Amino acid sequence: MNTPVLFKPDALPDHTHLWENIVIGSGPGGAETAVMLAETGHEVLVLEAGAYSPRETVPPYTPQEMQSRYAQGGITLAVGRPSVQYVEGCCLGGGSEVNSGLYYRLPEELANAWRSYPVLGDNLPAELEAASNAIEQDLSVSLLPGEAPRASLLLKDGAETLGWYCPEIPRWQLYDKEHPKGLRQTMTRTYLTRAQKAGARVCTNLEVQKLKRGQDYWLVLVKPHTRSENLGDGTAQDAAQDLTLKAKRVFVCAGAIRSPALLKQSGLISRPAPLWCHPTVKVIAEFKDEVNQGSEVAVHQVKEFGRAMGMGCSISSPHYLLASLHNLPGGDEAVTERWRHLLCYYVMIAPEGRGMVRNLPFSGTYPLATYSVTPRDLSVLSLGLQRLCKLLFSAGALRLWPTVKGLGPFTAPSDLALIPDALPRRGSALMSIHLGGTCAAPEITDPYGAVKGCDGLYVQDASLLPEPLGCNPQGSMLALVRRNLNHLIPDL
Ligand SMILES: Cc1cc2nc3c(=O)[nH]c(=O)nc-3n(C[C@H](O)[C@H](O)[C@H](O)COP(=O)(O)OP(=O)(O)OC[C@H]3O[C@@H](n4cnc5c(N)ncnc54)[C@H](O)[C@@H]3O)c2cc1C
Repeated sequence: MNTPVLFKPDALPDHTHLWENIVIGSGPGGAETAVMLAETGHEVLVLEAGAYSPRETVPPYTPQEMQSRYAQGGITLAVGRPSVQYVEGCCLGGGSEVNSGLYYRLPEELANAWRSYPVLGDNLPAELEAASNAIEQDLSVSLLPGEAPRASLLLKDGAETLGWYCPEIPRWQLYDKEHPKGLRQTMTRTYLTRAQKAGARVCTNLEVQKLKRGQDYWLVLVKPHTRSENLGDGTAQDAAQDLTLKAKRVFVCAGAIRSPALLKQSGLISRPAPLWCHPTVKVIAEFKDEVNQGSEVAVHQVKEFGRAMGMGCSISSPHYLLASLHNLPGGDEAVTERWRHLLCYYVMIAPEGRGMVRNLPFSGTYPLATYSVTPRDLSVLSLGLQRLCKLLFSAGALRLWPTVKGLGPFTAPSDLALIPDALPRRGSALMSIHLGGTCAAPEITDPYGAVKGCDGLYVQDASLLPEPLGCNPQGSMLALVRRNLNHLIPDL
């Protein structure tokens, strides 16, 4: 059992005070912004819409976790043909509390390409390298000290048979005597704790609804959430009335969907930049042996095909397996009778398609996302699906269910000839856990995340990443935010 987090969110902030810095959102972008400001002696107030939900209080990868730690209970869809189901964290620590902790530096080809990108600047590769070195130390980025889970080893075996490159991906995970199995270095365990120690105030269940320009400060309109909160010591924070706070500077770190929505809602931008994601299709594989070790996180990924296409293992808890399989022939029985024999894998692509975030009068404060999957993306996904199925048969799989209605289950490599050249627009269940891009446009932000025409207003989160990375994005985002703060702080 992991050591409980001893984080204690602060009480409601003083609305008569003029805060020096307000940070909206406590995910990786917001937490890093808060710690960098607080540790350089600046006053910081963090406002998080979600609750404090320590990993020990709710079992991971269950419907209860979806309800308590995910935006909209995990039911979020970028509408299109096909739609892309996506998820975002909504709790103290944001996505870092629910993610797998798989760490990448920004791929070198992108770091070089982004030098000429109008928003990022020439010295980018060197600045990002310095930032990544610091982050890797802060978050104990490391490889597994022992053997990888079976799900990982099967992917590796299948890849090796085919001669494909399939490395272990490091994670932000602390291994020591007390935690031989590792302690996930979430934001509540790292940057938010450090920020609070350095004097930052960190408040939960406070959703910012709008920003307004005051005379020489920002007005931050906040709605307290009524959801009662476990503060880690059994107490709950009472709901309170709407608040208006004042701040000299505001850092919007509400994630790739809600940061642009808040700016648009506040009339500060005319429209968000295009949304990118990594469209992903899954395959559930059945093996002869009991290979499913529950909530163990698999750490290998197939990187044979560069940025264009990657493969890895998804969470394979019974709940997640059922969510993927329940519509597919024989899927329900397979999960109820043989879930220990089942593992979920995925192929994800760096797509050409893009989406849009829109504020609609009837969608409340949570915006609507739309997404267009292009014909080329459907072909690349199909190729990826064929390759992943081939790999899984090489690893010894007996039966494969792609999450595409009408396809499978496949029981022999010869069945793969049934996969069409492009995935169908109807019946393909696509999803993504990586989002970005929505504030990365020269008309919205400058090269360091300052919002154009809005003195003292910044964006520092995944919405600044200009294009799909083709790998897990949190490490690259943290490096970009750190580099931006290194540039901004001396001038504050
Ligand atoms: C299931 C899952 C697995 C993942 N696995 C990995 C992985 O292994 N490796 C990796 O690199 N990446 C992974 N990711 C992606 C990674 O978690 C995100 O890229 C990262 O969390 C983005 O950070 P962020 O700060 O931009 O936004 P978020 O983490 O989304 O944080 C934004 C925060 O702002 C809060 N907020 C939003 N609106 C408001 C408002 N109006 N007022 C106050 N607060 C607000 C939200 O509640 C949220 O807590 C995963 C993501 C998910 C969902």
